[in-house]
Amino acid sequence: NLDDISNHVPYRELEPFARAIQIDQQSRKSSERLRREFTANVSHELKTPLTSISGYAELIQTGMAKPDDVKDFAAKIRKESSRLLILIGDIIKLSELDSADGEPQVAAHFEQVDLMDVAKECVSDLQLTAQKSYVTILAQGSSALVQADRGLLVELCTNLCDNAIRYNRAGGKVTVIVENNPEGASLTVQDTGIGIPAKHQQRVFERFYRVDKSRSKATGGTGLGLAIVKHIAMLHGAKLTLESEEGKGTTIRVLFVPRKT
Ligand code: ADP
Repeated sequence: NLDDISNHVPYRELEPFARAIQIDQQSRKSSERLRREFTANVSHELKTPLTSISGYAELIQTGMAKPDDVKDFAAKIRKESSRLLILIGDIIKLSELDSADGEPQVAAHFEQVDLMDVAKECVSDLQLTAQKSYVTILAQGSSALVQADRGLLVELCTNLCDNAIRYNRAGGKVTVIVENNPEGASLTVQDTGIGIPAKHQQRVFERFYRVDKSRSKATGGTGLGLAIVKHIAMLHGAKLTLESEEGKGTTIRVLFVPRKT
């Protein structure tokens, strides 16, 4: 929505983001309703892997699994268990970032952080993951200082880069761009991946909202990555914009507006 963006970005800066949408960080739905939906979704997301773990264990226990199958079933149990552990980790992170009274429980430690250091750390951590998917990942731009919790920013950048790799194509590229703009420092993650259809763009930041459930699950997604990103951005008073075109790629920009002192 161009009107929204023009409230925050000087006119001459609009051009590259003309098609970007501003992510509504103050959700339209009441937080109570969101919380109820979340509980229902969590139960469903936990039940699916647990049902399959319990099913395979039962086959082994009752002797119904052929000896050749036992190893295979044990591997499936391990895979589903590690999926559950990652999911539970994300649920805990999210609940720390968004507690019932609106005050995050996470002990954020604000200090001067260079976004370029954050970008370089993420890129280096994900180099191997990217290589496995035949995707190139790199950081570019200049040093840009912000007041932030370093650990949380690494988490935010890692989630964005992880998606940029998982929803990419073989031979694709992920670029993390750090810039000092007149309106504030920014960190942008740009990919050449599958893109997000326009009608889904505003909703992908909701908990457990996925465009393609099977691709998300097959690549180890929990459906919570962008919700975590949104909450970390909120905690820093940063603005999120998303620009995406199906088949071309996605660009998500986090703009750190200097706080008034
Ligand atoms: P998930 O664990 O499913 O990736 P996220 O909250 O990180 O959950 O993202 C929500 C959904 O948004 C994803 O399931 C995917 O459909 C879409 N998505 C997120 N990032 C990208 C991207 N860079 N390119 C294309 N689609 C994306």
